[in-house]
Amino acid sequence: MTLVKPDLVLDNANVITVDSGLPRAASIAILGDRIVGVGKRHAFATTGARSIDMDGATVVPGFNDAHNHMAIYGATLNEVAIQPAIAKSVEEILDAIARSAAETPAGVWVIATGYDDNKLAERRHPTRQELDRVSPDNPVLLNHTSGHFCVVNTAAMRLARVGEVAVPEGGVVALDENGEPNGLLEEQAQTLVRGLLHPRAIADIVQNLGAASDKYLSEGITSCQEAGVGGILGTKEPLELAAYQQARRDGRLRVRVTLMPSVETLHATDHHVDDDEPFVLDLGLHSGFGDDWLKFGATKIFADGSLIGRTAAMFDDFEGEPGNNGYFQMDEVRLHGLIMKAHRSGWQVAVHAIGDRAVASVLDGYDAALQKYPRDNTRHRIEHCGMTRAQDVTRIARLGVIPVPQARFISEIGDGMARAIGSRKPDCYRMRSFLDAGVVLPGSSDRPVVNGSPLLGIHDLVNQRTDDGEPFNLHEALTAEEALHAYTLGSAYAAFDENDKGSIARGKLADLAVLDRDITTTDPTAIDQTKVLATMVAGSFEFGSYT
Ligand SMILES: [Zn+2]
Repeated sequence: MTLVKPDLVLDNANVITVDSGLPRAASIAILGDRIVGVGKRHAFATTGARSIDMDGATVVPGFNDAHNHMAIYGATLNEVAIQPAIAKSVEEILDAIARSAAETPAGVWVIATGYDDNKLAERRHPTRQELDRVSPDNPVLLNHTSGHFCVVNTAAMRLARVGEVAVPEGGVVALDENGEPNGLLEEQAQTLVRGLLHPRAIADIVQNLGAASDKYLSEGITSCQEAGVGGILGTKEPLELAAYQQARRDGRLRVRVTLMPSVETLHATDHHVDDDEPFVLDLGLHSGFGDDWLKFGATKIFADGSLIGRTAAMFDDFEGEPGNNGYFQMDEVRLHGLIMKAHRSGWQVAVHAIGDRAVASVLDGYDAALQKYPRDNTRHRIEHCGMTRAQDVTRIARLGVIPVPQARFISEIGDGMARAIGSRKPDCYRMRSFLDAGVVLPGSSDRPVVNGSPLLGIHDLVNQRTDDGEPFNLHEALTAEEALHAYTLGSAYAAFDENDKGSIARGKLADLAVLDRDITTTDPTAIDQTKVLATMVAGSFEFGSYT
């Protein structure tokens, strides 16, 4: 029963609350931006509030993507599309670049995003010389879908002075058989070129955030967590936070965002001799920051690379590549030092770790930090947490660490991952193992690495199939209820937001998604066919309409 009079009631709905106290309901009472009651059909009919008949539609808590790159995704919407669905071979990529170069003034960058060498007919990256052939006068940057590689042409290399300047630590400038750069820049070496394209103008970032947020609303997303504000993998956006504040002020940012500042944006400052050296940030922070729409989460650190790119730090060599067991993006002493400093300064820490050696090393770092500076309820995170040995699943549970895996990797890049790890596949993306160990599991996409629609992520958490239709790790599959929990309450927990978000319960924010079917009872192999009919944020329908 409500104690306060609602101003809006959604009635005659199939409400999946994700609240164990009342799993199913039929009506929701809302006052302002909060839920003030959840009940049976017509439970709030006598309140006199405006009532909307949902006609039996399924209502779930708004989705929360616990790891995405919103600003980067927004930027890709303006770039040449070379995702596997669009460009199936190196030749098709070259055609797309040729078309774009033809309509771009000489000297202006041509930027394309989304190819995966594992999915191209040739099973390799395009080369500098191939790009030169179709774009001699425009610098070209091809971004790999993982974000861990790019390929550039000679014009771009000249601008970046590749060969003249030192290769950054944690990066590789790949060479061809003649010892010449073939155009492929790995991991931190991407800084050489990306450094030329950043920082972006604040107005451009605002525009990109707006375009991304419109898309998110259409997919039922009401909150997301930005994994690396201030720049990642060679990008530098020192005022990115100011751009988020601007986008919010301009009404362009229409979903709630938890910002995870890149550890590179943190720096020391003056302090009393009795205090440890603090680790603080600026990022353009100014008045008005910090509410239900924009807040800080963890600081983000990169430990290693990717499985499909075979740069993740592994205990054993990648399949068919003796001598290659990946690498760390910084030496482990420095990595553990950063974890210690960030932990000591009060940060929740989120480290990107995909290989089993990287995951184990990050756990060593968390363990040491927690022993030296004990702190309750830290919820330190491991982003991706791709390959995890059984003993490390146990350690994750013991240390209260939150793994942040991406189920959509299984269907979009799972075949490439499976080839890279061979018989170690059972250790890959252990969603069920984490739940069974008592770990809280969030839902996330790493967009733009893969399609970020949460319903596709939920589909993959449940189905565990690669895009060849091969079973990936069926023993790690979740039920639809568990997958929905991950993308709502699990993600909220990963950002310390479980009291405000993640379930449909009295007192929580009125953030909801309306679906055309009940994903917990529909044929599991058809979850990806589910349509989002409407999305409510803060008590108002921001996508779709109900009257
Ligand atoms: Zn990411």
